[in-house]
Amino acid sequence: MNVIKFGGSSLASAESFKRAADIVRREEKAVVVLSAIGKCSSSDEKITDILIDYCLAVKNGDFCGALKKAKIVYEKFISIADDLNATCDFYRKFFLFYDKLITFSRADFEYIVSRGEYYTCLLFCDYSKIDFVDPMNLIYFDKNGKADIPLISDKVKKIPADIFVTCGFYGTDKNGEIKLFPRGGGDSTAAVLAAATGAEIFYDYTDVEGVYTASPEISKAKETIGTMSYSQLYKMATHGANVFFYEAIPYVAGKNIKLVILDSFNANGEKTVVTDSGKNERIKAFLIDKDLFKIEITISYYREKIGIIYDILKYFMLDEIVICDYYAERKKVVLIVKSYASRVYETLEKVGVGCTVSNTNALTVMKPRRFSPFRKERKYYSSSLDEIKKTAERFSLRK
Ligand code: ASP
Repeated sequence: MNVIKFGGSSLASAESFKRAADIVRREEKAVVVLSAIGKCSSSDEKITDILIDYCLAVKNGDFCGALKKAKIVYEKFISIADDLNATCDFYRKFFLFYDKLITFSRADFEYIVSRGEYYTCLLFCDYSKIDFVDPMNLIYFDKNGKADIPLISDKVKKIPADIFVTCGFYGTDKNGEIKLFPRGGGDSTAAVLAAATGAEIFYDYTDVEGVYTASPEISKAKETIGTMSYSQLYKMATHGANVFFYEAIPYVAGKNIKLVILDSFNANGEKTVVTDSGKNERIKAFLIDKDLFKIEITISYYREKIGIIYDILKYFMLDEIVICDYYAERKKVVLIVKSYASRVYETLEKVGVGCTVSNTNALTVMKPRRFSPFRKERKYYSSSLDEIKKTAERFSLRK
C-alpha cells in the first residue's frame, strides 16, 4: 500500500487534476490524499485562504466582502469543473454549498474552511471515478487532540476499495465535530494514513523537485537534496523549509516508511527520498538564523558589472562577511550573506551601490559533489583578493 498526497499547487487547474489522476491510476493499491485547490501563480490565492477570509468577513459583518470571496470560490471551482466536464451531480452538490455561502446560513469556521478540500476531492473523484471516503469517517482525533492511529487503522481496513481518495487537513473530534489540522495539515493527514496503513512509500507531490538547499525564492544556485533522514528533514522543516509540514514528520519517522517528495509537473525530475537511516553526509550545515541576508543589486549598465561586483566582494571580505551563495542575472546580482544586520548595512554603505536587502532564514550548505566535473562551481568563502577578482569576472560572464 502506498500513500499519495497532492498539495494544492498540484491541483490548481483542470490540467493538474488530469495529471494527478494519471499518476494515481498507475497504482494498484493506494490511499490518495488531496489538499484544497491551490494557487496557479504567485499572485493567485489558495481556496483555503479565500474561505478563511470569507469567515472573517462574515464575522466582522462585512457581508459584501464575504460575497466577493464566495464569488471567487465559485469561479475557481466552476472553471475547473467546466474544463473537466464535471457531472450534474458535482454541480448540484457544489451549488448547495455555494447557496450556504451566499445566504450566510452556515458560517462556522471549521465547516466552511474544510469545504475547500471536500469539494476538491468531490471534483477529483467525479472526474477520475475513483472512490471517495470522507475523512469524517476515517480521520479521528483522540481526547488530546492527536490523530488516533489505531482507530484510523481499523477504519482503513474496512474500506473495500483498493484505491480511494480522501481529504487532507481535517477529521472528526471526540464529539463528532469537524476538526482541522493546523495550516499545511494536508501533509499531516497523509502522514497519519501512511502510519495507519503501514505504507511502504508515501509520495508527496508538490510543485518543486524535492527539498532544496535553499528557498527557490532566495537562491537560484539551490540544488535538490537527493536523500536525507527524517531528522534532517525535521531540522529544515522547523526552520522555514515549508516544502513539508514539520508536524507531520513524527507520524512517519521511525516506521520504515519511505517519503518521496517530488514535482507533480515533472514526476521524472529530481526528487528527495527521506528515510529513517538515510542521513545525507553531504549536508555540512544548516544555516538557520536571523543573520542571513539576501542582497539584490540591480546593475543598469553591463560594463559596470565587474567593477561593482569586485567592490562588493572586496568590502565583504575585508569586513569578514561570509558569502554563502550567489547568482547573477543580466542586470542583477544576488548574494546571500551571513552577518549581523548592522555590519551588512555599514559595508553596503561603503560600497555605495543601491540595493535591496531582505532578511531570510534558512539555507543548507552542501559539501561539493565529487566526481562531477559539470556541476556549477559554487564558493562559500572568498579568501583572497585575487580569487575575488576571478569570482567577479565569473559573475559578469553569467547572463
Ligand atoms: N489547505 C490547507 C492549507 O492551505 C491544508 C494544506 O494545503 O495542507 O493550509
